[in-house]
Amino acid sequence: MKREFAVIGLGRFGASVCRELSAEGMDVLAIDVLESKINEFRHIASHAVIADSTDEKAMKELGIRNIDHVIVAIGDDIQASILTTLILKEFGVKKVTVKAQSNHHEKVLLKIGADQVIHPERDMGRKIAHSIISNNFLDHLELSNDHSIIEIRASKKMIGRTLVDLDIRAVYGCNVVAIKSNATNKMNISPLATDKIGPDDILIIIGADTDISKFERNLV
Ligand code: ADP
Repeated sequence: MKREFAVIGLGRFGASVCRELSAEGMDVLAIDVLESKINEFRHIASHAVIADSTDEKAMKELGIRNIDHVIVAIGDDIQASILTTLILKEFGVKKVTVKAQSNHHEKVLLKIGADQVIHPERDMGRKIAHSIISNNFLDHLELSNDHSIIEIRASKKMIGRTLVDLDIRAVYGCNVVAIKSNATNKMNISPLATDKIGPDDILIIIGADTDISKFERNLV
């Protein structure tokens, strides 16, 4: 069965989510208070409706409770974002993803039942900063406030050495969970301590942010 999505707030972020979901063939209900935004999305989303998401009655009439996954992409109006999330969770919407503006905003959203809170600007800022520091940095995935997974290209200091040589777990406290081999195009899940790192290999590492930073400063 096709999943149904709703995107509330069609600013830069919400608009991008809405466009992408629609391009992937998903059924998307686009909601914004501004008529201009709705006119823009009329031919992009499956349905586009002018509505204030803090208006409980209007949301009920839209049948939002039957939608599988709602993305709240209201930008600066934190109050509206919180109230909208509260209404959606009270309606029993299964999955509510909300864009947060700050850590305080995130805390409140999680308290009132948001299933997923995202910080696109903060996360993108972090990724850019890491990729500026090191050419070997490829990706960063935040697991919690203080733990992440990073993807890095093997640095000169790593090539030709084994995991036991580098002693990453003991010295830096993080774990290499996988090595993507460029030579064989294979993914080595749970690599052995004796596995050697080849040129252009990609390492996937999990750990506390402080440990990952230490690792990056010394080995990447
Ligand atoms: P971004 O930082 O992603 O560009 P913006 O703050 O510019 O976000 O955009 C947020 C969008 O959310 C705007 O188009 C605005 O009209 C819409 N919006 C704000 N409050 C509500 C609300 N209560 N109901 C529906 N849409 C809203």
